[in-house]
Amino acid sequence: MRHCCKFKADDIYYLSENDLYNSRKLSIGFCPICGKPVAELIEYRFDGVINRISLAGIEANDLMLKCSKEIVYSMKECNYLRFKTKPYGWKYGINKVIRINGKEKLKQYACDFYGNKELIKLI
Ligand SMILES: [Zn+2]
Repeated sequence: MRHCCKFKADDIYYLSENDLYNSRKLSIGFCPICGKPVAELIEYRFDGVINRISLAGIEANDLMLKCSKEIVYSMKECNYLRFKTKPYGWKYGINKVIRINGKEKLKQYACDFYGNKELIKLI
């Protein structure tokens, strides 16, 4: 992120897609020089054009509020969840066939989008 100098985002919010844009990301952070909150929205339009909005101070706050309803998850939340071992949120199933002592067994897992996996059933 950039304001008076370049600095690392404090958190990144991944926003839901809309009619025009996908891969929408909102970075927020505080400028280490002037201390102002800075928000940077980057979104990719369907035709490949990148829309980049960078605002500071009260305008950054307004942008953050405007986007708050579209937040799917945040980077911090995602990192935090990585330390958990149990699947979280939206889950999907995976079946895996393994061999134990020459016999075929079916392992059923519940997985989430954060890389967590839990064995549900061994048939
Ligand atoms: Zn600044």
